[in-house]
Amino acid sequence: MATYVFRCPGCSVFEVVQPMSALRPTHTCPTCGAPAARVFTAPGLLSTPSPVHRALDRAAASAEAPQVVRSLPHGAPPPRRRRWNPVTGAAPLDAAHRPAGPHPPLPRW
Ligand SMILES: [Zn+2]
Repeated sequence: MATYVFRCPGCSVFEVVQPMSALRPTHTCPTCGAPAARVFTAPGLLSTPSPVHRALDRAAASAEAPQVVRSLPHGAPPPRRRRWNPVTGAAPLDAAHRPAGPHPPLPRW
């Protein structure tokens, strides 16, 4: 589907969204019913913002020749801890920080 612009001689300019295969040189004006001629406009090409363009370039270069990384980049946030386990419902504990012995009694309601 594409958007085409038509100008009615008696009314104004209007847009029609239709498939390219259905495009005709004129379109019936939705207001007065007169045949309206097509207006040729610049194609609606979006310009990519430069940060996005640079990121896309880096991604393409990395796909061709990936960099070997041995450490986190400077200024990167520390890795996040795992939060919730769908089986136990609790956050996983490191063995070094796990409390010794049985867990404390559950509260009674
Ligand atoms: Zn019209």
